[in-house]
Amino acid sequence: MKPDSYWPDSYWIDTAPAFDGGVRGPVPARADAVVIGGGYTGLAAARALALAGARVVVLEAGRAVQAASGRNGGQCNNGLAQDFGSMAGAYGLDRARAFYRDFDAAVTSVETLVRDEGIDCDFRRGGKLKLAVKPAHVAKLETSAELLRREVDADVVFLDAAETRREVASEAFHGALLFRRSASMHVGRFGVGLANAATRRGAQVFEHAFVSRLEHRGGSRFRVTSTRGVVEADRVLIATGASEKGPFGWFRRRIVPIGSFIIATEPLPGDLRQRLLPGARTCTTTRLIGNFFRATPDERLIFGGRARFALPGPRDDVKSGVVLRRAMAGMFPELAQTPIAYCWGGVVDMSADRLPHAGQHGGLFFATGFSGHGTQMSVHLGAAMADVMLGTRSDVVWDQGTWPAIRGHYGKPWFLPAVGAWYRIKDALS
Ligand SMILES: Cc1cc2nc3c(=O)[nH]c(=O)nc-3n(C[C@H](O)[C@H](O)[C@H](O)COP(=O)(O)OP(=O)(O)OC[C@H]3O[C@@H](n4cnc5c(N)ncnc54)[C@H](O)[C@@H]3O)c2cc1C
Repeated sequence: MKPDSYWPDSYWIDTAPAFDGGVRGPVPARADAVVIGGGYTGLAAARALALAGARVVVLEAGRAVQAASGRNGGQCNNGLAQDFGSMAGAYGLDRARAFYRDFDAAVTSVETLVRDEGIDCDFRRGGKLKLAVKPAHVAKLETSAELLRREVDADVVFLDAAETRREVASEAFHGALLFRRSASMHVGRFGVGLANAATRRGAQVFEHAFVSRLEHRGGSRFRVTSTRGVVEADRVLIATGASEKGPFGWFRRRIVPIGSFIIATEPLPGDLRQRLLPGARTCTTTRLIGNFFRATPDERLIFGGRARFALPGPRDDVKSGVVLRRAMAGMFPELAQTPIAYCWGGVVDMSADRLPHAGQHGGLFFATGFSGHGTQMSVHLGAAMADVMLGTRSDVVWDQGTWPAIRGHYGKPWFLPAVGAWYRIKDALS
């Protein structure tokens, strides 16, 4: 199966207006706060800092919201990526509840921001389905639904095979969990709306401002050198996602950059989308190397996954596109001949525990490690870290005190093929 002649970049970026609020000219010599990274984390922090009256400079190596924030699956889900019972076992019930509730709060943060800033991005609380790809996964989902409903989320419902088929017209699924609080949005239009909101509130966004050097001046003060000039600030936030370049070695030992890939079909003909996904909910599957998909308001199917354990690049995107198209046709045979309009990849900032991490290290503030679940959390945590930087909040639930480095990891994820093989074995045996 070959991909068609498709646009080799993100559907969201291609169908969103361009952000043109970037500052021309050199960066100012002084700022109250410098935010490094112009994705959702950095821009949400910059907006909150500016709203509080701080002079904020955002330094973005490329264009704003064109890394993970402009290239994701568009799922703004509540719930944890991990099984709630396992999280309660590892961290204790109270902490697992706090993690879960912060994802609820994160979806609300996005909803509130969209409303307050009047961002036109089709934000919709349509709910998420977690789909069982094997009969053996159904009992686990049923147990999980009971636990979640009892402990933390009364809006979770277990669906049996027949009910699941009414939600997703596919023979591939044997049951599902419905998380009613989850949402979806056009993440490209959201990102540009967020960047515009940050600048409207007074943040200065400098694009093509690659940060190459950080000099500690004591406390939380830093001198930051970028390709657009040098700025000294009282506080600096690292919001660089899975950054592979720049003076962030400490973070690079804790974050593994992992490729994730997506295809988008042409708009589906007639009532096909309505028949396949009548509720237009966001969908994920129960595999470790699973898939995620959703419909768009213009009736496309966006279908993604960790198709190959590779980093994005033209060749890897194409190869991943072929794998994804095969997987999509396996779930929806009617789509086997549907033309693919877009195919792209992005880099996920994976932490070892697959949880976000935030706090302060060596005077620097940071929020990173969203592990593929950051569309909502990066916005929420960016704003929360702004409050920490302003001193109006003492900590966040994702500040776990210590954050150990990943043994043997110095930035290049040499171990990814082995991890991929291990996950495939676990998926085969589960
Ligand atoms: C393919 C894919 C699918 C995903 N799907 C979903 C999903 O459906 N739901 C969900 O919740 N999450 C999803 N995610 C994750 C989500 O997109 C991210 O968690 C979120 O966008 C992170 O935002 P961020 O601002 O922290 O990072 P980014 O958007 O990556 O922004 C970081 C920015 O820092 C800049 N930067 C890096 N180094 C430097 C430097 N030295 N100097 C200056 N700037 C620098 C980069 O250029 C970049 O713009 C997905 C991610 C990918 C890649």
